[in-house]
Amino acid sequence: MPVPIDHLVQSKRKTIALIIQRDGTLTVRAPLRMSDVHIQEFVQKHYVWIRNKQAQAKESPALPNKHFVNGEPFLYLGIEYPLTLVAHQRPALSLSNNKFHLANSNLPKASQVFIRWYKDQARNVISERVAFHAKKYKFTYKKIRISSARTRWGSCSSNGTLSFTWRLVMAPMEIVDYVVLHEMVHTQIKNHSKIFWQKVGDILPEYKKRVRWLKQNGKYLSL
Ligand SMILES: [Zn+2]
Repeated sequence: MPVPIDHLVQSKRKTIALIIQRDGTLTVRAPLRMSDVHIQEFVQKHYVWIRNKQAQAKESPALPNKHFVNGEPFLYLGIEYPLTLVAHQRPALSLSNNKFHLANSNLPKASQVFIRWYKDQARNVISERVAFHAKKYKFTYKKIRISSARTRWGSCSSNGTLSFTWRLVMAPMEIVDYVVLHEMVHTQIKNHSKIFWQKVGDILPEYKKRVRWLKQNGKYLSL
């Protein structure tokens, strides 16, 4: 039986990739010139792998779903701060005295308010770290973009735009730094070759620990 492709994204890439999303859907990333027949062939060849991964996705425990109640913890740079609901406040959300303060009137759109807050912090924190590493290791880049990607922590486009998901600022600073460096090394080396990892290792000798941390904890960097 053919495996249905839920999302097909064709771009200037050279290789084809299969991605099983958290909800079990299948995304296929393929080169622009690859024909439908070849894409289908590739997908069918990996039938068993896809079905296994999809079964795993269905079994994985539900992610923490936030309720926005008093005392509920929210992550920022690796630390959990409890939420306090207050009668009035401007801006709608703030972090002070080791607590998140959210105005009651904003409860109906609490998750949007949090996301906006995380995006603002991500822009500030990540821009600062990118500038720091660019200066220290002589990397050049065009600009920084903050995305809402769920599993892709960062990316580097061919024109030198560095993208990072706002979820990254939920992680400890050393993890932010690893992802920033990873993408900055991509400004010089586009692939994940030996040379790429060597360069990452030259700058961050214990980078593997941080890769492992992201693999294990990435799913908690979520609202
Ligand atoms: Zn990479």
